Amino acid sequence: LASWVGFSNLPNQVHRRSVRRGFQFVAMVVGESGLGKSTLINTLFEDTLYQPKVIPEPGADRGRTVQIESINAEIEENGVRLKLTVVDTPGFGDFVNNDECWKPILDNIEARYDAYLEQENRVNRLKMTDNRVHACIYFIQSTGHALKPIDIEFMKQLHNKVNLIPVIAKADTLTEEEVDVFKRRILADIEHHGINIFQPPSYERDDDETIQENHEIISKIPFAVVGSDHIVPSPDGRQVRGREYPWGVIEVDNEQHCDFVKLRQMLVRTHMEELREHTNDILYERYRTEKLQAMGV
Ligand code: GDP
Ligand code: MG
Repeated sequence: LASWVGFSNLPNQVHRRSVRRGFQFVAMVVGESGLGKSTLINTLFEDTLYQPKVIPEPGADRGRTVQIESINAEIEENGVRLKLTVVDTPGFGDFVNNDECWKPILDNIEARYDAYLEQENRVNRLKMTDNRVHACIYFIQSTGHALKPIDIEFMKQLHNKVNLIPVIAKADTLTEEEVDVFKRRILADIEHHGINIFQPPSYERDDDETIQENHEIISKIPFAVVGSDHIVPSPDGRQVRGREYPWGVIEVDNEQHCDFVKLRQMLVRTHMEELREHTNDILYERYRTEKLQAMGV
């Protein structure tokens, strides 16, 4: 089960379209060092990204600024092909002066839009490669207090360019009650600063099950996540992915313990297509319009 990502369970109609085309999905992770980005990537896609080839992005100025690295994998499930790219951004927030640490990340997102725009302008547009970032998972330190200035600045700079998915990192370091309070505080801060995060849309034609599923996902935002690449024995003798404490085991895949399952569900099962559509129809379209206007086209 560990190697099962779940994207081939996409809703039927979408599924049929995707089977024909195969599809591309690019997820980016951003957050300060040590918040568990690499671990979460492995937890999300472990066997899929087996022996990943890490490709430093061109122009990445190693050591002095945020590095941007991408990992590619081609996976197939139930006859559905997915080209998955995970973009990691080590170095974010690690420097004495973090004033513009969002800049290399914005540049990377825009460079990917430019590459897409360039393809659209070619005569032959049949073979488009979609390397645009479809989801940006932003890691918030589990201080239990409020967003930090760096979080607010990053989200403000990026929210109109990419689907932002905020998560509370290392949620196992907070109690359940602390998580609830922290979530409310984060949402209040986000609203106060006028930040747009990705909101799973709902439709009138949705059936009750879908509405319920959506509601459960939305109610967990910002997802309180726990990552782990270890298998540990649970008190009742199961082998689980989790983190061991003297007082017990936190299970990554147990919805009673954290929101990891909900995050994965939204990313690869229920909302992958929505994330791609919103990127194309709204975020990219706005970028493209502004760019072409600036060029006087
Ligand atoms: P990155 O710098 O953001 O990529 O963070 P890493 O994934 O390298 O993790 C940094 C450290 O935090 C490692 O020792 C991980 O084992 C640990 N870690 C990762 N995820 C979690 C988590 O969810 N909870 C706890 N308690 N520790 C974690
Ligand atoms: Mg890392």
